[in-house]
Amino acid sequence: MSFDIVIIGAGPAGLCFARSLAGSGLRIALVERQDEAALVEPVDDGREIAITHHSQRLMRELGLWARLRAEEIGTLRDAMVLDGDDRDGLMFRHDEAGKPQLGWLLSNHAIRRAAYAEVMSLPEVERITGARVSSIRTGADGAEVDLGNGDALRAQLVVAADSRFSETRRAMGIAAGMHDFGKTMLVLRMQHEVPHEQVAWEWFGVGQTLALLPLHDPHTSSVVLTLHPQAMQALLALDDAALEAAMAERFQQRLGAMHVAGPRCVYPLVGVYAKRFVAERFALIGDAAVGMHPVTAHGFNFGLLGQATLARELRAAVDAGQSFWSQAPLQRYERQHRLATRPLYLATQMLAGLYTDDRRPARVLRKLALGAGARLGPFKRLVMSGLTADRGGVPAPLRRLPFRSS
Ligand SMILES: Cc1cc2nc3c(=O)[nH]c(=O)nc-3n(C[C@H](O)[C@H](O)[C@H](O)COP(=O)(O)OP(=O)(O)OC[C@H]3O[C@@H](n4cnc5c(N)ncnc54)[C@H](O)[C@@H]3O)c2cc1C
Repeated sequence: MSFDIVIIGAGPAGLCFARSLAGSGLRIALVERQDEAALVEPVDDGREIAITHHSQRLMRELGLWARLRAEEIGTLRDAMVLDGDDRDGLMFRHDEAGKPQLGWLLSNHAIRRAAYAEVMSLPEVERITGARVSSIRTGADGAEVDLGNGDALRAQLVVAADSRFSETRRAMGIAAGMHDFGKTMLVLRMQHEVPHEQVAWEWFGVGQTLALLPLHDPHTSSVVLTLHPQAMQALLALDDAALEAAMAERFQQRLGAMHVAGPRCVYPLVGVYAKRFVAERFALIGDAAVGMHPVTAHGFNFGLLGQATLARELRAAVDAGQSFWSQAPLQRYERQHRLATRPLYLATQMLAGLYTDDRRPARVLRKLALGAGARLGPFKRLVMSGLTADRGGVPAPLRRLPFRSS
């Protein structure tokens, strides 16, 4: 079978990319190892995704937003960062950003469901589900992708969106910088007595990092707990009643009684940044290109931005009668996406390291980072502009930080 583009992976990035190419005249195959039923009604994976203003606009343009149910959309009005036993914390207020809210919270499975429904309505996209890509070859005359079942697909271009542990990236010989933080993250929806008032918390304590993400219901939030893997194992061995008591204790009873309201989902914390995003007749998007640590809540936001950049470059090449698979549009995507993501990726690695390090120098630095200087302005403005900017990528001040570019 022959196509213009083969997309590997029907996660949020691959699906949005297929949707972004609608009407371009390109014939697309979307290959996904999960079965169609799992894509139509994805299981709850516990992830609640913080969405920036720019991402919300993209989701509206792609038709995904209209497919979300009202109760699936949480308002992220303000955010609070706490360190140790702080009672007040550093507040990030929507009004300081001149916006009605800092952002939104959406369940990852709701995003996937909405994106898959959009793609199902596209006649130019052939969905090949329950099929795993086993090998790939690209060369001057085209690309070929083998499926585990003996079938092969030919295309002018292959785009891989097959997760941060991308097998296709490895098969293409593209190296990636990986950082394993050696911690485990639990995400768990919980009901709590005290209302969240649409305020997200990020709370850095000794031996743990806690976050609270406010959902649609005023008494329901997603609790995100980062721990040493052995401490996590002990916590997960508890029954619901004991886990609820342990969580209320970790929150120092500030939310009153807490009750489990969703599945317990656990993720390893690994940051990944591909050394290259493109090769001959090949591109990486989504987590396969940039797999962020969730602490700055930018993985999907970057995935959405990257797929939009690549789709725009390919469409421009098609409109100009040029070869969309040639190096010029691919290199333009690589340049733009690296510029948009690299500084925040490095800043996130640094922050995540600082905030999960319980040795004394790191604790002092944390206090300084969240202390008087930060309250006065630049740090707050930086964080808020990342969430509320109407254009994608990192805020301008961060782009000027002296991080290495590769
Ligand atoms: C706990 C947690 C919280 C997060 N919070 C946020 C947040 O607040 N804000 C934010 O922006 N981001 C957040 N993220 C990140 C966000 O979830 C990811 O960036 C996003 O889901 C990545 O989408 P993707 O499509 O690139 O990859 P994935 O979702 O990993 O999808 C990859 C797809 O490829 C398929 N696949 C893999 N290999 C093959 C193969 N060989 N053949 C066929 N198919 C294949 C898989 O089955 C899968 O469907 C969070 C992540 C976690 C873990």
